[in-house]
Amino acid sequence: MSDLPGIVITGASGRMGQMLIRTVTESDKARLVGAVERTGHDWIGKDLGEAMGGAPSGVIVTDDPLEAFSGAQAVIDFTAPAATREFAKIAAQARLTHVIGTTGMDEDDIAALKPCARHAVIVRAGNMSLGVNLLTLLTKKVAAALDADWDIEVIEAHHNKKVDAPSGTALMLGEAAAEGRGISLAENRESGRDGITGARKHGAIGFSAIRGGDIVGEHDVLFAGMGERIILRHVATDRAIFARGALKAALWGQDKAPGEYDMMDVLGL
Ligand code: NAP
Repeated sequence: MSDLPGIVITGASGRMGQMLIRTVTESDKARLVGAVERTGHDWIGKDLGEAMGGAPSGVIVTDDPLEAFSGAQAVIDFTAPAATREFAKIAAQARLTHVIGTTGMDEDDIAALKPCARHAVIVRAGNMSLGVNLLTLLTKKVAAALDADWDIEVIEAHHNKKVDAPSGTALMLGEAAAEGRGISLAENRESGRDGITGARKHGAIGFSAIRGGDIVGEHDVLFAGMGERIILRHVATDRAIFARGALKAALWGQDKAPGEYDMMDVLGL
């Protein structure tokens, strides 16, 4: 039992944090050894199991990542960009596999991971599910087969607490479409239409975000041509798919050389 890889979960009280804790606790391939929350959170100093309303787990929630990471083999991190940057430095110091599910990271945030990846394995993906990673491959293939007369739109829907848009997954799909078409997403991206926007730019890749209720995550990639449309769709109904993917990534990273990886690497796609 004790030679199983030890996993720390950051953002332990969050929607994904709690799902990750359940997934790691129920797994026979890993053990939960730490839980981190931000300073001042009312879970700090409490037993994690009890804080979640269950039986004691023996893991005490801490606001000291360095203490939590030392002695662990991996950290699974679904928090916020600023927090993830800090966790990456500490994971590199402790030589842990750092699985990053946090979305909304900008270019600076992503660049800040580079020096950390010289010392530790970093697996980062805007979506950790097998289905979405397959959808990404299909999107790239379809975009490569069609010319710019086919308008591409990525339409996503998420719960009403989500703070960033477009979703990390929508951007992943947009990148795949741009790669397939051989263009730059940054130069061809069109989001948030409102008012008199003028006609759609030829060759643009558009994004639309819907927010409401408890929607876990839905993504359509629409290819709209003259007289016909192709729609590739993924619907997530359970956050467990992301947690299972993240745990798989944490285990996969154990024997890999330091560097930056994504779920395509983990899934061998
Ligand atoms: P959430 O419920 O708001 O949880 C985020 C957690 O991180 C909260 O517990 C928050 O604490 C904590 N946190 C923020 N800053 C922190 C810090 N400095 N130190 C420690 N903890 C900190 O959000 P969620 O729905 O779980 O999503 C979290 C992230 O994962 C988002 O970026 C989301 O888009 C992403 N996500 C990715 C995937 C994927 O497959 N890649 C799937 C689902 C979600 P407070 O409550 O105190 O702020």
